[in-house]
Amino acid sequence: MSTIPPPLSTWARNVAPSPTLAIDAKAKALLAAGEDVCGFAAGEPDFDTPEHIKDACIAALRAGKTKYAPTPGIPELRKAVAARYAAEYGLAVAPEQVVVSPGGKFNCYLGVLATCSPGDEVIVPAPYWVSYPEMVKLAGATPKIVFADDRTGFRLTPEMVEAAITPKTRLVILNSPSNPTGAVYSRAELAAIVAVAVKHNLYILSDEMYEHLIYDGLTPTCVATLSEEARARTITVAGFSKTYAMTGWRIGTTVAPLPLAKAIAELQSQMTSNSTTFGQYGALAALNEKEKTAAALETMLVAFDRRRKFLHAELNKIPGVSCLLAEGAFYLFPNISSFGLKDTDFCARLLEAEKVAAVPGSAFGAEGYLRLSYATSDEIIAKGVARLAKFCATLKP
Ligand code: PLP
Repeated sequence: MSTIPPPLSTWARNVAPSPTLAIDAKAKALLAAGEDVCGFAAGEPDFDTPEHIKDACIAALRAGKTKYAPTPGIPELRKAVAARYAAEYGLAVAPEQVVVSPGGKFNCYLGVLATCSPGDEVIVPAPYWVSYPEMVKLAGATPKIVFADDRTGFRLTPEMVEAAITPKTRLVILNSPSNPTGAVYSRAELAAIVAVAVKHNLYILSDEMYEHLIYDGLTPTCVATLSEEARARTITVAGFSKTYAMTGWRIGTTVAPLPLAKAIAELQSQMTSNSTTFGQYGALAALNEKEKTAAALETMLVAFDRRRKFLHAELNKIPGVSCLLAEGAFYLFPNISSFGLKDTDFCARLLEAEKVAAVPGSAFGAEGYLRLSYATSDEIIAKGVARLAKFCATLKP
């Protein structure tokens, strides 16, 4: 009788599956089974991709753009991405510094892989996007979680970053606007953290995936523009998923200093080759047909802003719940610690009793909170938050 090897590698055993995707899948399965679920778990816009972007992709498909593309992306798209950084932020980027990958998640992972070796440490601000610690571990490095709670607006201070640095630290991850809290760092706050990274000669991975989803008249900060030293050590990740409602397309972008961009493209060449060729023509239309794209983005922003304010006001009416008004992305991160329940139990009971899907803060390294995505309809938000209030009334704050 033949034997098979013991199951699963170190990597497969140690990686935690994405809790946000799991909860969203559970909510969608309940919906499909006919349950009246209010889903606050999704990490994607509830809008469809704008028509002009789809049209450009369809035209590319019909024109036979169905072959492998150059690993770092089609030249037109790399050029357009470089041009947008110059236009939006005044950042001089050569097309060779741009790498297009199959989704911003993969851009982030490649950024970690290109800079970190086994034994290195990576500073991960918490509450964190669920994938950062796992990516760091998959690179054989160690995440050093630095937590800032709602009393500091979920934003790290330079002192907190400095205190976490050791001789093994190699990389600092920044994410503003943040998933899961929606927190937006000011330019000055980011500059102060970057100064610490420069002082200790660290790389920076700045995940700017939500740069365009920002409210209250704020403008996003592109970390690489903070100083010459920042530009020389920052890997900037952004993409099409959130801004243009293109989550299923799997197209993200990295901008990095030339040697790093080359290393990232080489890693990608062995891991997945290029992002889907015809999809990149859709992304190109998103950048080139500026007026249509801006109009579509504005429609989303108006809806998100309205829902953000409504959900924030309703949450703060619930005895025992307190919630900051996040300035970016499409998430609110209310504090539910006064109920004395573990957040995982809170979410499980909420789904069971009221059919409301929310992600527990502990999935993001922040026990005692919930992540609620308002990238869903006004009706579902109103119904869901009313059910949440009813559920909370059954608990004692
Ligand atoms: N970065 C952050 C903070 C995110 O929330 C996400 C998606 O949820 C990504 C990166 C990756 O986006 P995608 O891989 O869908 O382009």
